[in-house]
Amino acid sequence: MPEPSVKVPFFRPELNDAEVAEVVDTLRSGWLTTGPKTARFEKEFAQAVGADHAVAMNSCTAALHLATVALGLRPDQAVLIPTMTFAATAEVIRYAGAVPILVDCDPVTLALDLADAERKLEALGRGDLPEAIDRELEPVGLIPVHVAGLMLDMHAVSAFCERHNLWCVEDAAHAFPAAWRPADGVESDWQRCGEGTSHVSCFSFYANKTLTTGEGGMATTDDAELAAQMRSLSLHGLSNDAWGRYSSKGAWDYRILAPGYKYNLTDIASALGLHQLARAEEMRLQRKAVAERFSRELAEVDEIELPSDPPNRIHSWHLYQIRLHLDRLDIDRDTFLEKLRERGIGFSVHWRPLHLHPYYREQFGWRAEDLPQASAVWCRTVSLPIFPAMTYAEISAVIGAVKDLCRVHRRR
Ligand SMILES: *Cc1c(COP(=O)(O)O)cnc(C)c1O
Repeated sequence: MPEPSVKVPFFRPELNDAEVAEVVDTLRSGWLTTGPKTARFEKEFAQAVGADHAVAMNSCTAALHLATVALGLRPDQAVLIPTMTFAATAEVIRYAGAVPILVDCDPVTLALDLADAERKLEALGRGDLPEAIDRELEPVGLIPVHVAGLMLDMHAVSAFCERHNLWCVEDAAHAFPAAWRPADGVESDWQRCGEGTSHVSCFSFYANKTLTTGEGGMATTDDAELAAQMRSLSLHGLSNDAWGRYSSKGAWDYRILAPGYKYNLTDIASALGLHQLARAEEMRLQRKAVAERFSRELAEVDEIELPSDPPNRIHSWHLYQIRLHLDRLDIDRDTFLEKLRERGIGFSVHWRPLHLHPYYREQFGWRAEDLPQASAVWCRTVSLPIFPAMTYAEISAVIGAVKDLCRVHRRR
């Protein structure tokens, strides 16, 4: 195999001069940790998603954790989460000693399947879940994930939560900016991710997410009480933050209200966030253009299925996931990935489902057949490179490699 002429990374962050200058300004300002820039970032982010409150944290995992703490999650409780997600969605439930009940996914969108969530709740009542999951557990919440940045139908999610008396915390790590409306909706029905329906929405600003602060996250909510609790818990459970204590008008005294955590976001990170936020829609449109070119030029390749992009969604295009038709190829997914690598194309897989990881399998006894859709589809999924600064030649290289692999390995 000759050296590929164009190498394409899975993701390449691209920070502009204004972002670099803002960070330098912060470094020279005399205030490095949580302060005025974080306060501004929170305010502007809340406005951008249409939420009343935003609390900046040092990761989305921290935001998910404090959302569940503020909602009072306890060890004898259970929370429904998709098995098709990242480690973070589940581990925050374990921090409380509570139990994640894994829910299967839609085979096309890979999103949490509410019908299976219903089945899992019924099974819990009958004691039909894996033995390690106690039927005495009280189901209290749902954490849906907007996989790749394609939002779930939030009316269906809210109706489900209301029917079962569950709180809802969105894992919106992929979903900024994103929006949805009902299939029969009108223009005024558009609702942004973070606007309304759930108790808390948690966003990620990790290095390769749609908005980055290197590491960082944000919890948004319309509930002032939840916001105040998360804010205090994010800084040792104190009654006011460092900026409040040390700035000229601040009070030096504080009270410890709870054994909190150290989850606050620095002003160095927020400096980046402010500028990334201002061009978030521009970057989304750049990713959308990449996705549209993929979908146009890969449409005739019979060996793969493309991600859906329904008209009643504004897709963030954090990921572009294809699904291989393994019955039409003479190689499996892992070999497909190896061959992509040989051709200089970066990739990722989202995800090996939670029930197929040692911890969740051994701790709770989940078996592949408990979550059949996720068990089957994960062996077919490939995430292709997609990022705002992708060049025309890089997009061409990805399309060329996928087409070539499918042609060479077409099952005859
Ligand atoms: C990235 C990610 C997280 C965690 O975000 P961090 O900011 O790294 O903590 C949580 N959930 C999903 C679905 C993710 O992709």
